[in-house]
Amino acid sequence: MTICHCPRCGEPVPAEQAPPSLRCSAEVYEKLGRSLARRRQERFVVVALDARNRPIRCHVVAVGSVAAVVVHPREVFAPLIRDRAVAAIVLHNHPSGGPVEPSVEDAEITRRLADVGRLLGIPLLDHVIVGKNGYCSMRDLGQVRFP
Ligand SMILES: [Zn+2]
Repeated sequence: MTICHCPRCGEPVPAEQAPPSLRCSAEVYEKLGRSLARRRQERFVVVALDARNRPIRCHVVAVGSVAAVVVHPREVFAPLIRDRAVAAIVLHNHPSGGPVEPSVEDAEITRRLADVGRLLGIPLLDHVIVGKNGYCSMRDLGQVRFP
């Protein structure tokens, strides 16, 4: 029996209970973004993915009002390397109820993380920003090169 890890709690679960592959930003939002959107504080989350785009584990790498600005690539990629991730997705929430469009800082950190991912061979597939008014996929937006 193959053992996977629950992306919510990190506990081992049998493979047949493992989460399905994430195929697009809408699925990322449905599976992982909705709960994040309800958080009152800003959180920056990285999702380690396996070779079939299934979440291995989620890690909260920063919490706070300016989380996206202070996220350093080392905080994002250290857990990905530990998990032997094949690829990654990052998410963060805009808790104020304002727009989910990326800030200038959001675009900047995304570019940086995408660059590091390419260098490390752990491609960043998307950065999804969530809030009360839905979500915004930076991949779908097309401002940053993915992976
Ligand atoms: Zn933001």
